[in-house]
Amino acid sequence: MGVFSHAEFDGHESLHFINDASTGLRAIIAVHSTVLGPAAGGCRRWSYASDDEALTDALRLSRGMTYKNAVAELPFGGGKAVILASNNAPKSPQILAAFGRAVDSLGGSYVTAEDVGMSVEDMRQVQQHTKFVSGLPQSGANAGGDPSPWTALGVYLGIVAAVKVRLGKESVRDLTIAVQGVGHVGAHLCQLLHDAGAKLLVADVNRDNLNAVKNAMPVAVIAPAEILYADVDVLAPCALGNILTTATIPKIKAKVIAGAANNQLSTLADGARLFARDILYAPDYVINAGGIISVSHEYYGGSSEVEVCADVEKIPQRLQSIFAESKETGRPTNELADEYARRLIAAGKK
Ligand code: NAD
Repeated sequence: MGVFSHAEFDGHESLHFINDASTGLRAIIAVHSTVLGPAAGGCRRWSYASDDEALTDALRLSRGMTYKNAVAELPFGGGKAVILASNNAPKSPQILAAFGRAVDSLGGSYVTAEDVGMSVEDMRQVQQHTKFVSGLPQSGANAGGDPSPWTALGVYLGIVAAVKVRLGKESVRDLTIAVQGVGHVGAHLCQLLHDAGAKLLVADVNRDNLNAVKNAMPVAVIAPAEILYADVDVLAPCALGNILTTATIPKIKAKVIAGAANNQLSTLADGARLFARDILYAPDYVINAGGIISVSHEYYGGSSEVEVCADVEKIPQRLQSIFAESKETGRPTNELADEYARRLIAAGKK
């Protein structure tokens, strides 16, 4: 497996492989860019099929964070950590401590927070070993805490912006929306959509998460293998990435794809495939920036929830200008978002 020649390497500034024999921690910390600030991005704990899959995930996610943070106008570069969870071994305090030490050893070039498989409580344990961590328990009305409700709010506002452009609807009322994955973000998103009058179709591989949403509001449930192809107005991917591919795109019936999952497109060309099918795609890192906006306000301190909310509310405006440019130029939304992000980073370099 090549590293510098890896297809997803994309000029990463540094890559750190952590193998802590005393605790069993195996992790990768990818620092894609520190041009606009410390490389910030959550830590994902996942049981990967291979080391190569973990590396690919870390590289793709960390580059995505550079773009996400740039477009959200945050004083952060982009990075990501993945912890390789082997054989469903428990997430011990020792492993979290070793991860905290690893983050600390990078001297602040990487700032961590929670992602899939990690919680606010985990971050509190990581904080015992490094100050380069955010997404910690909230105190009072200050910014902080679980970022996922903010991610869900940004996604909800982004869906409203997208249905206006693609379906000519002023709200999600009476629209059918499929939510793939009802974990931290997906569950909050379902609540916002339900409150706004949308009809929900949900799928999850985790029965507890599914039941929690079923008990909270009326939802129809569909098998995880079928949710991408459901006959709905909007598809909101809120599970994992790599779901929009040459195999799946031809079978999608939704007119809008707008959700929280990172790296929804398998390749850049999949954005063009969606465009050719007249499916409006909200670029993932633009619509799902609510969480990192909260993390940024918390990390730099002195902000209130009101300020976080005001910044999250800028997400639909950014999407609207990408959608408008896509219509004008006949180019896919993902390409326009990437170009915009690269322009901001190049300007930062100067
Ligand atoms: P989570 O782990 O809490 O929830 C993910 C859910 O998806 C889980 O319930 C899981 O069982 C389910 N799932 C996994 N594979 C599935 C499949 N094949 N079909 C259906 N369901 C499946 O994670 P989260 O924090 O809610 O994040 C969801 C996505 O949004 C991730 O891709 C994450 O990187 C991204 N994201 C999250 C945040 C945040 O603030 N948490 C911010 C930005 C992006």
